[in-house]
Amino acid sequence: MLNIIIFGAPGSGKGTQGEKLSQKYGLEHVSTGEMLRAEIDAGTEFGRLADSYISKGNLIPDEVMISKLNELMEKRNGVKGFIFDGFPRTIAQGEALDTMMDNHDEKVTIVISLEVEEEELISRILKRGEISGRSDDNRETVELRLKVYHEQTEPLKNFYIKQGKLENVQGQGGVDEVFENITTIIDKLLI
Ligand code: ATP
Ligand code: MG
Repeated sequence: MLNIIIFGAPGSGKGTQGEKLSQKYGLEHVSTGEMLRAEIDAGTEFGRLADSYISKGNLIPDEVMISKLNELMEKRNGVKGFIFDGFPRTIAQGEALDTMMDNHDEKVTIVISLEVEEEELISRILKRGEISGRSDDNRETVELRLKVYHEQTEPLKNFYIKQGKLENVQGQGGVDEVFENITTIIDKLLI
């Protein structure tokens, strides 16, 4: 299996690149953000709980997220691999993902980290907020999301450096340009 984590700050383009990667390589796109927003739109109890964290810019608690991901992956047998977008977001989630993979004799193949400057992240998120209708794409929430990213999510870079899996990719620039930089790295793994 080819299991790719697409990693980066809020607004770094994980969703856009994740979707393109899943198409090109025939992988399952697992986006925890999309999954949570679907629950919010459906008005489920879980969706209401999730939105109470998301709208403030906080993360959903690890134990909740990890059990959701477990559920999601159990339903998808026999796939060629996964693109993880938005998961893991904490060290605890990274460890849980390794355990899940281990249990299936699989592993995370590579982690692509999209590098984008803070100013660009903020302007992308505010622009997206004008059309997305997302409760977290606004000036009040964006600062906390970035803080949460630096404090809770960014330490995962070291976690994956230690495993020899982290690849930094310039995430600024056009969508196609960024995509090409990512596929160059992945194609090398496939030879
Ligand atoms: P991008 O713009 O790069 O696609 P993003 O950070 O803007 O990414 P999502 O990944 O869609 O947005 O996540 C939106 C929100 O959903 C997060 O701020 C967080 O509250 C919640 N969330 C998503 N994934 C997780 C997770 N793995 N653990 C905890 N909370 C999560
Ligand atoms: Mg996203």
